[in-house]
Amino acid sequence: MSQYQAAIAKRRTFAIISHPDAGKTTVTEKLLLLGQLIQLAGSVKGKRGPHARSDWMAMEQERGISVTSSVMQFPYHDRVVNLLDTPGHEDFSEDTYRVLTAVDSALMVIDGAKGVEDRTVKLMNVCRLRDTPILSFINKLDRDIRDPVEVMDEIEEVLNIAAAPINWPLGSGSLFRGIYNLYTDTITVFESGFGHTLHDFREIKGLASDEATVLLGDEADAIRDEIELVRGATHVFDRDAYLAGKQTPVFFGTALSNFGVKEMLDGFVEYAPAPQSREAEPRKVEASEETFSGFVFKIQANMDPKHRDRIAFMRVCSGAYSKGMKMRHVRIGKDVKIADAVTFLAGDREQVVEALAGDIIGLHNHGTIQIGDAFTEGEELKFTGIPNFAPELFRRIRLKDPLKTKQLQKGLQQLSEEGSTQVFFPMANNDLIVGAVGVLQFEVVAYRLKDEYKVDAIYEPISVNSARWVDCKDPKKFEEFKRKCHDNLALDGSGHLTYLAPTRVNLSLAEERHPDVRFRATREH
Ligand code: GDP
Repeated sequence: MSQYQAAIAKRRTFAIISHPDAGKTTVTEKLLLLGQLIQLAGSVKGKRGPHARSDWMAMEQERGISVTSSVMQFPYHDRVVNLLDTPGHEDFSEDTYRVLTAVDSALMVIDGAKGVEDRTVKLMNVCRLRDTPILSFINKLDRDIRDPVEVMDEIEEVLNIAAAPINWPLGSGSLFRGIYNLYTDTITVFESGFGHTLHDFREIKGLASDEATVLLGDEADAIRDEIELVRGATHVFDRDAYLAGKQTPVFFGTALSNFGVKEMLDGFVEYAPAPQSREAEPRKVEASEETFSGFVFKIQANMDPKHRDRIAFMRVCSGAYSKGMKMRHVRIGKDVKIADAVTFLAGDREQVVEALAGDIIGLHNHGTIQIGDAFTEGEELKFTGIPNFAPELFRRIRLKDPLKTKQLQKGLQQLSEEGSTQVFFPMANNDLIVGAVGVLQFEVVAYRLKDEYKVDAIYEPISVNSARWVDCKDPKKFEEFKRKCHDNLALDGSGHLTYLAPTRVNLSLAEERHPDVRFRATREH
């Protein structure tokens, strides 16, 4: 194995998927504590008040940390962990989808009292598209949770994946005594009050030991019987099945008390896959290849109010980035020298000296980079499977102060580069139309236009029901289509021709009348 291959074998790039409130933020915080990115839990994110309208708004209030919360890299044992944040609110599911294209595995956090909730099901379905390996953490054991056997069954039935407990809880709520590792025959004894710091919890070797009998008291026999049953009734951990996305190893704990998170992280760095290959055209790219390649999966405008810049997040797929290197920006066919990529190591934004396959780097974007763009050392590669979804909701956006049109257009264009909203410029008039997949995004756009671009804009309803990207192989027929449908056509923020249909019926009719024109609901970047 080359030095390069040995280095990438140590990388673990993942995202957390969960239903809101299951504990993603709390788990993240404890991971940063364990990775020694922070010294005291509670310093990452202020408690969300009940009035914070969304994760996004809360993030906005603490703008300083939004940079670090997008990508966090930390060394753990002899591994390098890259944790990618996924937006919490459902309206951002498109963003989440794209973040999941940039990871090699996922951590699923489940609230033990609630079991598998609907957003987890949706995210799991996204992971399944690429057979992404999933490790599970059942959280909130300090509360009375549901029967863990039932939660296990639910994972298997609802999520359709085999569950293999690595450890098992000894009671829950006020009777929670600890977790028992089914493989090492070790009990880690629960103590509350250590949620904010690193703490070595007491360990007891052997469930049959006298020390265990003392800990478990009257329930010792019942608990030992239960664990015998669990051993017989659940799957044995099989790493190949996990790597194939067919089985999920399950850990129990309470993130709030910072208990069981370390055990989970230890298991994670051990079992989780190193950087995987990526599908591209005309060929698949292996992480072990030493020539550089990467793709952009996310763009964020104005991440740092001091710099007012836009950052394009790139997953390195193969080889290494080194400061000052030249890379080919494949879509525009240009070679660029990149000397100021940023990394997210240790929570601070600092210049990257080197980044390897599996790592995420941030490129300064001056408007030339789009989601899905590939960067290589010259090869004409196009990474596939990073879609843009047609928006489903539309509003006309209008300025309170008409003199600021330029600012508004710039703002909308830049925000639409991030991919969660889209802007359309109709051919027939000077309207500006914003399209989104969730209602909250309209609110976010208005807020950010005001905050970041100093424009006050208001929305008006507009009779657009759906948008479809259009193209046609036959230039003559396309011209005819453009003439006939002129009033329904618009350009999107990246200049692609789009058909805006006022009704479903109108869309079907247009498709029928122009059989040679393709109407697409997704556009591959
Ligand atoms: P997210 O929406 O998934 O990011 O969830 P948060 O991490 O913000 O947690 C949601 C709520 O559950 C917060 O009030 C947390 O303090 C609480 N919480 C998280 N983990 C635990 C836990 O282990 N035990 C208890 N009792 N509460 C927890």
